[in-house]
Amino acid sequence: MDFKQYVSLLNSSITVLKGIGNKKGALFNKIGIFSVWDLLYFFPRAYDDRTNFYSIAQLPEGVSCCVSGVVAGPVIEKRIKSKMSLYILRIEDKTGFLTLKWFSSPYNRHKIRRGEVYSFCGVVSKNQSTKEMLVRDMEPYEKNELLGKILPVYSLTNGLTQNDFRRSVKFVLDTVKLFWETLPNEILTNNMLTNISEALREMHFPTNSQNLKDAKRRFAFEELFILCLAMRKMRSVNSVSTGVDIKNTDCVLEFKEKLPFELTFDQRKAIDDICMDLKKTVPMNRLIQGDVGSGKTVVAASCAYISAKNGYQTAVMAPTEILARQHYRTFNDFFKESGIRICLLTSGVKNKNKLIEDIKNFKYDIVIGTHALIQDKVSFANLGVCITDEQHRFGVKQRASLANSGNNPHVLVMSATPIPRTLSLVVYGDLDISVISTLPGSRQKTDTFCIGENMRNRLNGFIEKQVEEGHQCFVVCPLIEASESIEANSGKQVFDYIKDIFPKYNIAFLHGKMSVVEKDEIMNDFYLGKYEILVSTTVIEVGIDIPNATLMIVENAERFGLSQLHQLRGRVGRGSFKSYCILISDCKTEEAKERMKIMCRASDGFEIADYDLKLRGCGEFFGTRQHGLPELKVANLFTDSNLIEEAKRSCDTVLARDSELSCDEYFPLRLRIEKMFKDIDYHRIFN
Ligand code: ADP
Ligand code: MG
Repeated sequence: MDFKQYVSLLNSSITVLKGIGNKKGALFNKIGIFSVWDLLYFFPRAYDDRTNFYSIAQLPEGVSCCVSGVVAGPVIEKRIKSKMSLYILRIEDKTGFLTLKWFSSPYNRHKIRRGEVYSFCGVVSKNQSTKEMLVRDMEPYEKNELLGKILPVYSLTNGLTQNDFRRSVKFVLDTVKLFWETLPNEILTNNMLTNISEALREMHFPTNSQNLKDAKRRFAFEELFILCLAMRKMRSVNSVSTGVDIKNTDCVLEFKEKLPFELTFDQRKAIDDICMDLKKTVPMNRLIQGDVGSGKTVVAASCAYISAKNGYQTAVMAPTEILARQHYRTFNDFFKESGIRICLLTSGVKNKNKLIEDIKNFKYDIVIGTHALIQDKVSFANLGVCITDEQHRFGVKQRASLANSGNNPHVLVMSATPIPRTLSLVVYGDLDISVISTLPGSRQKTDTFCIGENMRNRLNGFIEKQVEEGHQCFVVCPLIEASESIEANSGKQVFDYIKDIFPKYNIAFLHGKMSVVEKDEIMNDFYLGKYEILVSTTVIEVGIDIPNATLMIVENAERFGLSQLHQLRGRVGRGSFKSYCILISDCKTEEAKERMKIMCRASDGFEIADYDLKLRGCGEFFGTRQHGLPELKVANLFTDSNLIEEAKRSCDTVLARDSELSCDEYFPLRLRIEKMFKDIDYHRIFN
């Protein structure tokens, strides 16, 4: 069988397998298995270790284990209900007697004869002074099919049994026998990885726990390696060459001069990086990573300025309407009297078709918007730069699709998500990174306190003090409406309460169920100082910039993650005024107390992200949904950091040898990358 035949076999529908008809096939489809290949790479969620045999005297209680013994009596049946019986059997070995019990018969009990040796597995408990085992499986001692083995346990769906599944996998493993190796030989040897045929077999039917561990390591490596390669390929897509020709970046000086503030060192460095990138013939692919409030927007604006002054359009994409509108405002401020024409394109704007027409006819230099920007209908006359803000909200795919519009434009992304370096090398493997680690100078640290309900009155006094000094205040709540099931102060209740306490102030309520226009109006009015207090749900979480706000109050703070609290806190302390963050929580658990303590102590986003990771695990912190990467089945981006390093090194080796992965040995890798990113146009990855 040559490789093409092999691939076509693995790509064929699972219904080609013995015992899988259309009906059963549909069940496999339900859990995401369509091809034979899918079946093979559907790894067990757990293993049922049936290799731990004990003598009767030594059987441990409360854990699943196995035992063999001579049948010492007949199977006794006790009817419990009309259709249910309890079966009881006694066995013995050299060390003693054991009573076995089971309900529905897993094995034809009439075959069990006194004096024969059988094996059983199940959990042992003590009944008065005698041990008994609740049996899950049994077979004649010499058979060795269900016992004496580590059996795979898959996440299945109703109607599909573990045995069905095991049989199908076994059938494929036994039929194909030798699988085509995906990883280059050299990589296997250098990293001491199990070959694919053995690894597949051990993944599904491990012979012992060490082999299983090795197999898992191999597939974890494979995933990371292919992910690294794919990300690097994404990058080199753009390194083909850009049709954008920016000659003059010195114009950024005039932009800098007009700014109302002095740029920080890191901001200047980031702008320099951008200028270098823009002059190259390959498209820029840069990530600006900086904590909340570090001043990424002005860096983006500099970039847009250069693009505009060189006769190109710039697209600026934000994850929410509110943010898009805020950027629109900020950019208008930055660019007044510059002659640069800016428009806002979101799903909420009026005259959308006219706007789209005008963008096409180059009536605008900068287009700011939400996802609406990457819709097919929108096309640019002369797109030079794509900027996306709060990048983690956009997936890899959206990034690619934005970059695909126009003539291989330059790409700049901004993110406030502090992620560990090893990780960023994988997740952002396709990007160069500029880090803004210092906050603008006039900035003071936001003092954070955690208080309980009993301090409510004092807090109200504090709110009044801030407002009387001319400042504004946010109150953030986890929910909109009261729900019986969750004991959290709903936004509406808090809003009513605050209105009651402060009848003399203007107070607004902002929540996610409002229309875009309503939300925007409120935000804008708050920005203009028409409200003293803004009560809201977490719609304000990302990026909102109101320099005059000095107080952030978070209700039921224990319901938020640390990184989320950090983002919220970043909404204040953005001007030169001393700011405060008050977390209201009657923490019931130790963990909640610990988290509040961390928030009061730490102000660095990276440090907080680290705690978040430790306390909540990676899933919550960095779900695949957020970064838009394909789901990893075996590898763990957080615990496998050594393996990530190894995978990266191997990736360098392979790409240094053959950057297009065009030789025969690398063909399987190309297929895997294609499969991993099947949502993204293959030809964009391989030219
Ligand atoms: P983020 O990085 O969170 O997007 P922004 O770009 O919104 O931060 O900037 C936060 C605030 O800091 C804004 O009000 C902005 O005008 C201000 N700012 C940015 N850079 C500086 C600076 N160098 N000096 C003083 N204020 C600055
Ligand atoms: Mg921002």
